Amino acid sequence: MNDLSRTNDLRHVIEADRAHVWHHLSQHKPYETVDPRVMVEGRGMRVWDATGREYLDAVSGGVWTVNVGYGRTSIADAVRDQLVKLNYFAGSAGSIPAALFSERLIAKMPGMTRVYYANSGSEANEKVFKMVRQIAHRHHGGRKSKILYRERDYHGTTIGALAAAGQDQRRDQYGPFPDGFVAVPHCLEYRSQWGRVENYGEMAADAIEAVILREGPDTVGAICLEPVTAGGGVITPPKGYWEKVQDICRRHEILIHIDEVVCGMGRTGAWFGYQNYGVQPDFVTMAKGVASGYAAIACTVTTEAVFALFKDDAADPMSYFRDISTFGGCTAGPAAALENMRIIEDEGLIDNTVAMGERLMAGLHGLAERHAAIGDVRGKGLFCGAELVADRATREPMDEKRVQAVVADCMAHGVIIGATNRSLAGLNNTLCLSPALIATPDDIDRIVEAIDGALTRVFA
Ligand code: PMP
Repeated sequence: MNDLSRTNDLRHVIEADRAHVWHHLSQHKPYETVDPRVMVEGRGMRVWDATGREYLDAVSGGVWTVNVGYGRTSIADAVRDQLVKLNYFAGSAGSIPAALFSERLIAKMPGMTRVYYANSGSEANEKVFKMVRQIAHRHHGGRKSKILYRERDYHGTTIGALAAAGQDQRRDQYGPFPDGFVAVPHCLEYRSQWGRVENYGEMAADAIEAVILREGPDTVGAICLEPVTAGGGVITPPKGYWEKVQDICRRHEILIHIDEVVCGMGRTGAWFGYQNYGVQPDFVTMAKGVASGYAAIACTVTTEAVFALFKDDAADPMSYFRDISTFGGCTAGPAAALENMRIIEDEGLIDNTVAMGERLMAGLHGLAERHAAIGDVRGKGLFCGAELVADRATREPMDEKRVQAVVADCMAHGVIIGATNRSLAGLNNTLCLSPALIATPDDIDRIVEAIDGALTRVFA
């Protein structure tokens, strides 16, 4: 009998958590007097905590991850079957689930051919940065090593990924950072850098080109962008933006790296976020929804043209990608991912995401008509945000404490929503919604009702 058989003693679990677990993104002082929240069980869209309270989860496990919902026994079975057959082998060998999942994944990504496995979104992004640097060293005489990132985007928690973070509160205490990461302006029209303009999308793209010209196009190797910015405020790209960004990158021979860690696997109503905007990437990274949190897995996907650069000189021991991820050799990840993908396909979850996303957006727009606190509503698929303001006319951001009060009120009424907390000083004011792709009309309506009630109570 192992300790997990003691889970009926949930008071003990809470005390063990209080005494020994350091929670992510958390100030722990309040836990000296208030119980830390420990989640115990999940089914479909719902989770239960250690006190037995039930919640409707509108953020897919806190950070937009559990795309196919909780309690999927078929994923558990697929993982179990694989683990008892072969749990792990790494180095230069492959595995059955990795080969089969790669094949299925590539079939959804025209133009891409290769999958490199790791186990977190940060790590998948770091792989791209290393590939870009190696290409610069081997093929551009050390030039083209700079990587552009965008204000308000986020690409992970490791120091390299943080060097590419456009979110001040996430990075400000963790420098110094490695050189060669250069910021470009954000593309949130609601907070336009140029006032109200007709062609904001083109101007935001032109602003990227201005940075490229300033730095020197021969020094820039790649640009890393979220298709829809997640934690930086659920920022959908403005009209004309991606077309122009792609054109600029092609002209200056800059590789396009799209971070699909949040948007990937159906979240935006397409298999991948970039597929909504007609862009053809050179690198795509993904993690969270790839196995919906049933196992840790991340993928760096690239093209045959990029891949060919790493096998062009078999006699040179420095020619191949000199990188390994120990847990990129776990077979549970691709085994879970295969079943996760089957579920999304067989249950028509992409179509459901489009339909439920429209319902959620309509609900949020309806709330905006009645609540002056909502300044802007944005979203794509089941990935939506409502930016709260203290004053609609001036667009002064709502104070973070009051935004958190809305989140807490929803939680108190049994619905878990998120907010852009702790990422952007003065701008942690966007409510974030990313329910599982299985959401029903009733679930969506309940989420909207909870926000309605919370806005009424907090701003009464
Ligand atoms: N990219 C984006 C867009 C993310 O939102 C995140 C995590 N929230 C990451 C990368 C990093 O992923 P991980 O936490 O798995 O390292």
